[in-house]
Amino acid sequence: MKIPSVKGFHDILPDESARWSWMESQAREQFARYGFAEIRIPIVERTELFSRSIGETTDIVEKEMYSFADRDGSSLTLRPEGTASIVRAYVEHALAQHEPVSKLFYLGPMFRRERPQKGRLRQFSQIGAEVIGRDDAAVDAEVLLLLHDLLAALHIRSAQIELNSLGDGACRPAYRAALQAFGEAHRADLCENCQRRLERNPLRLLDCKDHDCHAATKDAPLMIDHLCGPCRAHFDAVRGFLTREGLEPRLNPRMVRGLDYYCRTAFEVVAEGLGAQNAVGGGGRYDGLVKALGGPDTPGIGFALGVERLILSMAEAGATPLRPEVFIAPLGAAAESEAIHLAHRWRRAGVRVEMTGGGKSLKSQMRMADKSGARYVVILGEDELAVRALTVRDMTAKRDFPRAVDLSASADGLRAALAQLGHEPVEQSA
Ligand code: AMP
Repeated sequence: MKIPSVKGFHDILPDESARWSWMESQAREQFARYGFAEIRIPIVERTELFSRSIGETTDIVEKEMYSFADRDGSSLTLRPEGTASIVRAYVEHALAQHEPVSKLFYLGPMFRRERPQKGRLRQFSQIGAEVIGRDDAAVDAEVLLLLHDLLAALHIRSAQIELNSLGDGACRPAYRAALQAFGEAHRADLCENCQRRLERNPLRLLDCKDHDCHAATKDAPLMIDHLCGPCRAHFDAVRGFLTREGLEPRLNPRMVRGLDYYCRTAFEVVAEGLGAQNAVGGGGRYDGLVKALGGPDTPGIGFALGVERLILSMAEAGATPLRPEVFIAPLGAAAESEAIHLAHRWRRAGVRVEMTGGGKSLKSQMRMADKSGARYVVILGEDELAVRALTVRDMTAKRDFPRAVDLSASADGLRAALAQLGHEPVEQSA
C-alpha cells in the first residue's frame, strides 16, 4: 500500500531544488552585504512563546498552530514564524551584551494549518531578517533597502513594496477606539468574522477579504490620519531616506499586518503570478516584543519572505540544475571497472561526471546520456580499452571523435580535449 504525503506538506524534487539553492545563495549574498549574520533557531518551541508574542486573537494562534502535548505534558508547537524564536534567543543568550545591535537572518520551514491552495501550504519556507536594538527611522529605511535589493537579486520583477504606519502606544489606543466605534455603527454590514473580531481585534476590519465587508469599511478611519507627532515624524523620515535612494513604496493605509506586536513602520510585498495569495512577504517594527518576552526594553524591526511564493513569481528561472560535464558509457564488465576508476578520479578533481552500469547497451546508455543533459559522452568499449584511448561523442554536433581523450587523462587534460572538440568545424553536408 502506498503512503501518500500529508496534505499541505510538499516534496521539493530535484528539478525544483536547484532554484531553491540558488535563491538561498542569492539571499545569503545580500545579507552579507548588509552585515547580517545567520541565526538557526529550533523548529519546536513552547506554545506560550507564540501565544504571547503573536497574539491570542490572531488567526495563527487561534486556529493555525501545530501544537501537541509532549510526553511530560508540556505544550509544544511547530514554529509558525521566525521572529518570536529569534527574540527568545536574543533574550535567552543576552545577545545585547555582546553587541548593541543584532542584525540576524534566517532561512527555513514554518508550519501553519491553513487551507492549502496555490501558494498556501501547511509547511512553507521563509527567508527573514531582524534588526534588534535600534528604533531610528534610518534603520527602517535600511531594512527596506535590503528587502528591495533582495527582491531584485531574486528576479522578482513585479514586486511592489507597500508601506503603512501602525502608530504606537501613544496614538493607537485612541485610533483603535475610533475604529471600533465606526465598526459598531456599521455592525450589521460586517461579515460574521469581523463582527466577532470587533471587540478583540478591530484593526483586522481593514484587511478583511470579504467583498461586502470591505465596502462597508470604505470610509473607516485610518491609522495614518491619527498618528501622534513622533510617529508622523518617524514615518516621514523613513520615506525621506527611501526617496533619496529612488525607492517609492506605495502607501497602503489599510494594511494592518496579522501579528499583534507590530508598531509604526509596517510593510508588505505584493507580486504577480500568485492569484489570491499575492503577498510574498511582509514585516515591520515591533518595539514592545523583546520586553514582552522577558528581555530589556529593546526595539526591533524585521521581515519575512515566503520562498514558495517567491518561486511562483520569479521573472526567470535564475538557475537550472547543474548538468554533468561528461557522461561515461562503458560497454562490458572490464570497461565498467575501468569506468568506475575514471569517474572517481575525475570527480575527485572537480569534474561533474554521470555514469550508469556497464551492463546496458550503447543505445540505452545514449538515451540516458541525452536525458542527463551532458554535452559529451565518453565511450569506453573493448576497442577503446585496447588502445587505452576514449571515443568522445559530441551530443550537440552529433559526431564521434575516436581516440579523443587518453584513458589516463587528468581532469585538466579531459577539459582541454573537450574544449578543442567544441571548436572543431562542423562538416558541411553536400
Ligand atoms: P507572515 O509571517 O504571515 O507575515 O508571512 C510572511 C510571508 O510568508 C507571506 O507573505 C508568504 O509569502 C509566506 N507565507 C505565510 N503563510 C504561508 C503559507 N501558509 N504558505 C506559503 N507561504 C506562506
